[in-house]
Amino acid sequence: TNIIEGTNGEKIITSPHGPVTYPEMPINHYIWADIQNYSNMVALECGITGKKYTYSQVRDYSNYVARSLLNMGFKRGDVIAIVLPNLPDSPIALLGCMEAGIIATTVNPIYTADEIAKQLISSETKAVITSQTILTNVRAAVNATNPNLKIIVINDYAKSVTDGVIPFENLITKGKSLPGVSTGQWSPDDVAILPYSSGTTGLPKGVMLTHRNLVANVQMLKNSISNERCLPADGTFQEILPAVLPMYHIYGMSVVLFSKLSIGCKLITLPKFTPETYIRVLEEHKISFLTVVPPMIMFLSNFEMARKKHIENIKFILSGAAPLSHNDVDKFYNKFQLNSDKVQFCQGYGLTESSPLAFCEITFKKFSSIGKPVSGCDARLVDPLTKKDIVGSGQTGELLIRGPHIMKGYWKNEKATNEIMHGDWLLTGDIAYYDEDVDFYITDRIKELIKVKGFQVAPAELEALLRTHPNVHEAGVIGIPSERYGEVPKAFVVLKKSGTTKAEELHDFMKAKVSDFKAIRGGIEFIDNLPKNPSGKIMRSKLKQDYCK
Ligand code: ATP
Ligand code: MG
Repeated sequence: TNIIEGTNGEKIITSPHGPVTYPEMPINHYIWADIQNYSNMVALECGITGKKYTYSQVRDYSNYVARSLLNMGFKRGDVIAIVLPNLPDSPIALLGCMEAGIIATTVNPIYTADEIAKQLISSETKAVITSQTILTNVRAAVNATNPNLKIIVINDYAKSVTDGVIPFENLITKGKSLPGVSTGQWSPDDVAILPYSSGTTGLPKGVMLTHRNLVANVQMLKNSISNERCLPADGTFQEILPAVLPMYHIYGMSVVLFSKLSIGCKLITLPKFTPETYIRVLEEHKISFLTVVPPMIMFLSNFEMARKKHIENIKFILSGAAPLSHNDVDKFYNKFQLNSDKVQFCQGYGLTESSPLAFCEITFKKFSSIGKPVSGCDARLVDPLTKKDIVGSGQTGELLIRGPHIMKGYWKNEKATNEIMHGDWLLTGDIAYYDEDVDFYITDRIKELIKVKGFQVAPAELEALLRTHPNVHEAGVIGIPSERYGEVPKAFVVLKKSGTTKAEELHDFMKAKVSDFKAIRGGIEFIDNLPKNPSGKIMRSKLKQDYCK
């Protein structure tokens, strides 16, 4: 494969798909580039109420929203917070802000009022767009921040919106007769959106993503896993996907929303993941393309309610955002008696800071690999301490990436930006290695490695091994202090059916699989639910907080 030497002796692994070319245009224009092929087809449909918008409606309505926002006095470069679950209207709000040159900061809708308030303050939001069902909470956040902030409300499942707020509807209906939006002084390096990182390892950070970052990343994805079977867009056949990954997070926003709208797919929006509605949507809409986070694969494999008829049409699965082991994918194939020719599987890897996609490759057997850098993305592995480049298969190091998809920086946080950027290289904070074919594997995050005497233990490895036990649904592993060892692993296990396995059995099961220094000396505890954030990551910090006082 292509490993080239940089000017300072860096060992740079380039993409097998070559460099990326992309047009210099706003992401909100890029999305509509081919719309004439499918303008009257449905773009967004609510999986609960059936409310839907066609492509031309989404494009026109977001333009009207932009006109209204500008008419209300908001300006290019202002920040507006979008606190919304996935509704068919949510993309109209997001794209409406973009049309106006307003920076949307997207907020987790299940946050507490306190958490919402933090992001409103940190992002210096000028207004909030939310929905009727979560208004009380959002209003509490606004009152605690700046009671004068305007609140614009989408009427989701209620009869009407509360008095004293601005109905989102009005922005659409009144916007139509307002003067059009001029792009004016536009640059590809303008900040387009301000999502926040997941807050797995500390406080969530505002990530400035530009139009260039987003357009490039959609192109990088298309160049790397383009495949006629899963990406047809000639207006004769329409691919339908569930849009259940939260759109406030970069995965749901970029990989699902932006890239799928840009090729004319239909997205069935679900405001949250519930097993029943999810499998109903899969069956009802004959879903053939799935974008998932690992817990969704585990749900399909481990729960009887998910049956063959639900996944019958699936041809392609893309998983990302958190570790998924070979065995997890095998279980899925075995349960439904499928093979990897019929259902292609691909694991993607990325960060909010990289818009997000950095790695992915369709694979027929290496399910635990994240594959190779996507087109236009360069990668390096370095020693986390000395920052010297590591060479050779099987050697682990910190993963660095660069390309046109790397963020402009953290919002109003130069210190954090300088810590994560080394020149144009982004330090991912993840440990990785590659095999003989230069296919990459993520070991775990540097910050979460458990230090047992002189050795480092990756919790993700122990979690994956625990999940190979037939009775185990999920597991979370953390390090706890130990006088003798410094730190030792402790496991929290969710069984498929409670009471089916004892801790001693699992200890024996693990003993046969790992070397002594990785032994789960901190104990195995059974719990009902693992704390996970909506991007599918196990919140190990929360496990520590809740169980290890
Ligand atoms: P914060 O930076 O605020 O602590 P976060 O890093 O979890 O939160 P995101 O940007 O949502 O926020 O997640 C990026 C991280 O997700 C990566 O650094 C990596 O640790 C993890 N990740 C993404 N894809 C994969 C994957 N396929 N396998 C393993 N880990 C992954
Ligand atoms: Mg991060």
